[in-house]
Amino acid sequence: MSTQKCQVEMLNLRSCKRDVVRDGRCIFHLEDKAEAEAAEFEKSFKQELERLERSESVIDLIGFVFPRRILLQRTFTKDVYFDQATFKQDAIFTFAKFLGYACFREARFSSVTSFIGAEFSGYAEFEVADFLGHADFDGAKFSGGAGFGGARFSGRTLFSSTEFSGHAQFDGAKFLGRADFEAAQFSGDAEFTEAEFSETDFGRSTFSRSAIFVGCSFGKLANFGSASFDGPAQFVKGGKDQADPVLLLHRVTFKMPKATQFCGYPLSKISFAATDITDILLVPANGDQDRILDEILIERPEVSKRDEPLDIAKRSVGGLVSTYSLIAEYKLLRKCLESNRMFTEAADIFVREMKLSRKRLTWRDSGEIVAHQLYSWVSRYGESINRPVLLSLVTIVASAMILKHVCSCGVSPNLWTYLAAVSSVFFQIKSFSNFPFLSNLSPIPELLLRLTSLTLLGNFYIALKRRLERK
Ligand SMILES: [Zn+2]
Repeated sequence: MSTQKCQVEMLNLRSCKRDVVRDGRCIFHLEDKAEAEAAEFEKSFKQELERLERSESVIDLIGFVFPRRILLQRTFTKDVYFDQATFKQDAIFTFAKFLGYACFREARFSSVTSFIGAEFSGYAEFEVADFLGHADFDGAKFSGGAGFGGARFSGRTLFSSTEFSGHAQFDGAKFLGRADFEAAQFSGDAEFTEAEFSETDFGRSTFSRSAIFVGCSFGKLANFGSASFDGPAQFVKGGKDQADPVLLLHRVTFKMPKATQFCGYPLSKISFAATDITDILLVPANGDQDRILDEILIERPEVSKRDEPLDIAKRSVGGLVSTYSLIAEYKLLRKCLESNRMFTEAADIFVREMKLSRKRLTWRDSGEIVAHQLYSWVSRYGESINRPVLLSLVTIVASAMILKHVCSCGVSPNLWTYLAAVSSVFFQIKSFSNFPFLSNLSPIPELLLRLTSLTLLGNFYIALKRRLERK
């Protein structure tokens, strides 16, 4: 055995100083171990771990290279450091207990990683760790805070029913496979700033304090169905999403709506079915806000096997949505947008709301249907000022031309005279009987003109009033 010592840097910049076996490294730090070396590692590691637990103040395993599948389902009674360790095969920490600080900073997990049911009493640090295979933290308990900032999860990742009692930090984490946080409990602040997901499920999860998803990219779909946000919640769209993600926020509870915001997501991709969104700050993305997601889903046929985001959304939300619930949802959305002073968006939503109300009418309400249709044509349900003005001009000019054509018996005055006569009737100032050249006219044209005028002026008044009220 050589007397050369391993110089790999460990805790507090102290070098390893164990005997070198090859390439300037000890058996623990040696990369790419041969079969015999791997066997030697397994024997030595057991003894070394026992020695560290017995006689050292901390368990320092910084930079260790684990060549084979390793089972560490044990209780670590002291602070443990796995920084920059490499697990070449499965790393199984199922039901392990970490009574002190547990550090896996920059560790590399090459295959399956299991922390199922593991308990972390102190801070658990996984910053910039690299999980290349399936990573499972199901039912794990983080009592002293958890740091996963900048970590990368390449395979399927599970944090289902995981309990985060302290601060849960996932800033800049990347989830390249599907990430499940179903029924996870975040008792402290949960931060996902600039995290990147491809598809994620936070269904039934609870956020007792703040939930920050600022600049977060959700990939194709994020499900927050039946989640509960007890503190402030911030959702601000990140720039890395290729297309807009589908966000399912059905049956969600927002206990602090005034401190809750959704910015940058188009309404055609968010479902708020059976969720009270009163008072939340909603700033939807510009673009096609003609229909909200739930209306699109109502019309979409259900396909059981396809995994397109809209098919998944249909299966999750479809049962909650009806024409009646849609009208209620549009009303809530409109009030929400109006209280954020986003009147143009609110107007579009109002038009959709009225169109849906019209669909609900049956043939018995034919009078209502006609009124609805007129209201829609004349002023886009009181949202357009231009339309009634333009229609009034057209009515006046057309009526004047028709009258001139019809009454061209004897000496006929010019078009301007007709225009003046029609305008004075249109604005309900005079009657056709006041004009000698029209005195023989039957009362029907006047009646029709007056009715049209009342409809147009009424619509103009409604649209103008609505516009002024919002200023
Ligand atoms: Zn070493």
